[in-house]
Amino acid sequence: MLNIVIFGAPGSGKGTQSERIVEKYKINHISTGDVLRAEIKNGTELGKTAKGYIDQGQLIPDELMIDILASVFDSFKDSKGVIFDGFPRTIAQAEALKNMLVERGQDVSVMLDLEVPEDELMTRLIKRGKDSGRADDNEETIKKRLTVYHSQTAPLIDWYKGEKKYQHINGLGTMDGIFADICKAVDSI
Ligand code: ATP
Ligand code: MG
Repeated sequence: MLNIVIFGAPGSGKGTQSERIVEKYKINHISTGDVLRAEIKNGTELGKTAKGYIDQGQLIPDELMIDILASVFDSFKDSKGVIFDGFPRTIAQAEALKNMLVERGQDVSVMLDLEVPEDELMTRLIKRGKDSGRADDNEETIKKRLTVYHSQTAPLIDWYKGEKKYQHINGLGTMDGIFADICKAVDSI
């Protein structure tokens, strides 16, 4: 299986590039943010819990996310691979992902780190908030999410370097140009 972790700060373009990767490599997509937003929309218990955290720019507790991830992963049948978008976001999640894959005779093939400067992230997310009305894309919540990214999520860069899975991608440029760089990285695995 081709198991890709797509990584980056909020607004780095994980969702956009994931769609292209899914189409080209015919793999399944797990976006934890999309899963949570669907739960909120459907008014489930999980959705109610998640909304409290998301509106504050905080992460959902690891135990909850790890269970959700395993159940979505196991729902894919005869999968050629998976792109993990928005997961892992903490070291505990990265360890859980590794264990979950090992238990299934799999591993992470590569971690793609989409790097985008902070001022560009702010600009993109504020624009997305205006266009799509995503409740957490307002200036105050974006700032909190970026702080959470730096403190809880960015340490995964060194963690994946230690695993020898790390691949840097320049996330500034045209969507096509960034996608071409991603394909180069994936094809060289
Ligand atoms: P991007 O714009 O690059 O897709 P994002 O940070 O804007 O990234 P999502 O990945 O959609 O957006 O996540 C939205 C929110 O959902 C997060 O701020 C967080 O509260 C929650 N969330 C998503 N994935 C996780 C996770 N793995 N662990 C904990 N909370 C999560
Ligand atoms: Mg997203």
